[in-house]
Amino acid sequence: MHTKQIGKNFYQVELETGGFKNLICSYVFTGEKVTLVESGPTSSVPRLVEGLIELDVKFEDVQYVAVTHVHLDHGGGAGTLIKYLPNAKVIVHPKGMPHLVNPERLWASAQTVLGFVAEVFGKPEPIPQQRIIPVTEGIFDVGNGGKLEAFETIGHASHNLSFQESFGNGVFPGDAAGTYVPEFGVVVPTTPPPFYLLEALASLDKLISVNPSVLYFSHFGKADNAVQRLKEYKVQLQLWADIAKDGVGKSQSLEQIRDRIVAEDKVMKQIVNFVKAHPIYSKTMLENCVRGFMWYAIQAKGSQ
Ligand SMILES: [Zn+2]
Repeated sequence: MHTKQIGKNFYQVELETGGFKNLICSYVFTGEKVTLVESGPTSSVPRLVEGLIELDVKFEDVQYVAVTHVHLDHGGGAGTLIKYLPNAKVIVHPKGMPHLVNPERLWASAQTVLGFVAEVFGKPEPIPQQRIIPVTEGIFDVGNGGKLEAFETIGHASHNLSFQESFGNGVFPGDAAGTYVPEFGVVVPTTPPPFYLLEALASLDKLISVNPSVLYFSHFGKADNAVQRLKEYKVQLQLWADIAKDGVGKSQSLEQIRDRIVAEDKVMKQIVNFVKAHPIYSKTMLENCVRGFMWYAIQAKGSQ
């Protein structure tokens, strides 16, 4: 079983990317107008397709594949996925659209930033432009009397969209609200370079202002206490930024800054052994996300 019901006509699909559970999921609204949120990466499209079959979804009934952003783990698989879905259109931010039409540059930069993790996610396939709906905001009818509202939440990426659903007042933040680690019930920054702190904080204010009751994390799963989590994430980002700024000012290495973050952030302190032992998270959380804050700190220093 890949699918789990999390609402009326609403399911989470465990993509088990690279064989890892609780890493990446997609979401499916079933009914006469099927809508998916996140294709996930190319390598786990077969899992998502199996999930759709498990849910008795007819491929021709899928109208939308909404992707929060085009990073490989969120929208990378959209090109492969829509080959199964003859009527589906992909909803994406206009700045992400060129990378879906021609993924070569995105793939090259992902290989540089992510290393072996890019290979775990797989190379994206191109999407014909006429199958893409570029939006910075918009409201989509997802059937059963429900709507999905898109809005911009940049910072993690220059083109991150969030989607708010009208059935349970939940929000899909993409990577704008961090990575939720369900094993511990905590959120950790997801901030690879180039990371824009001020934009990320403004996006969190925007997410707080729509007052969601739940968050549907792409990494990973449904989490309650949405507003409280968003507020705590703001504080956590600020803490990491302060440490990175101070560390960069003292010419400290990535390892030194990382160790300070682990020592001073109570969430990281709690889960550090789990993260260190996790082949993907050890690379993303303890390396790329720290690097993102260092990138931000260097830019901030340069603009002073
Ligand atoms: Zn992600």
